[in-house]
Amino acid sequence: MTAPSPVPPRAGEPGTPIIMVHDLRKRYGQLTAVDGVSFDVAEGEVFGILGPNGAGKTTTLEMIEGMRPIDEGSATIDGIDVRRDPREVKRRIGIQLQASAFFDELTLVELLDLFGQLYGRDVDPMALLALIELTDKAKSQVRTLSGGQKQRFSIASALVNDPRVLFLDEPTTGLDPQARRHMWGVIRRIREDGRTVVLTTHYMEEAEELCDRVAIMDGGRIIALDTPQALVDALIARGFRKERVERLANLEDVFIDMTGHDLREDD
Ligand code: ATP
Repeated sequence: MTAPSPVPPRAGEPGTPIIMVHDLRKRYGQLTAVDGVSFDVAEGEVFGILGPNGAGKTTTLEMIEGMRPIDEGSATIDGIDVRRDPREVKRRIGIQLQASAFFDELTLVELLDLFGQLYGRDVDPMALLALIELTDKAKSQVRTLSGGQKQRFSIASALVNDPRVLFLDEPTTGLDPQARRHMWGVIRRIREDGRTVVLTTHYMEEAEELCDRVAIMDGGRIIALDTPQALVDALIARGFRKERVERLANLEDVFIDMTGHDLREDD
């Protein structure tokens, strides 16, 4: 699958992480929602932020995107300081919008053209729709799409400005197992195109499948950061043992086996 157009040259030094976050903080009144978060993301990496509800994942993501003011600390993307130059940062990133934000009456092609115009970019809607496997829906209105299709379309809309970094906040929440796997395929292709992906998720299987490294947040702080395998190995090294041996299959395996790996027509 080809990228919509070539990726622009990067501003940072070669070998510099594409995202650098240092001691990020955010308070809402008495509540410290983000309490000194630091991490780097390498170019081409899929980086996951995990954590229970209210851990501060979305607030962290939105500060890095320049969508929410940073109280303290710093974030740079592609060598550009988010606080100093949020406009330049926004030119280099894609943010997945909630599907409900779209104009329901426009077709997928019309919407992608419209988003392209907003960015002053010539987009190739059909290439974007091919990436998310929705070419057959090119002339359909958004309101006719299934939940999984809408989620994938929201990813296409985040790619119209050919971003170096794509931010996905819970990209598969609410999707059925097949649609979730379909989305994983799309995210892998985006990564193969050389883009960096930062995502949040509540699904540990998803993090293990997709992420090169994950940060686990709790109470506004990062409490662990490593590859999924290294985190599991460290747990076992600390003496953790499951009480029962892992079952060879689970209910999700039954569901996928009986209903098929293939997507349904409306997926
Ligand atoms: P979830 O998994 O439920 O999406 P999260 O890890 O993304 O949670 P955030 O949405 O970043 O968590 O919220 C962190 C904390 O900050 C929560 O306690 C939340 O209630 C609070 N919070 C978030 N936005 C605001 C706001 N605009 N005003 C006040 N408090 C807020």
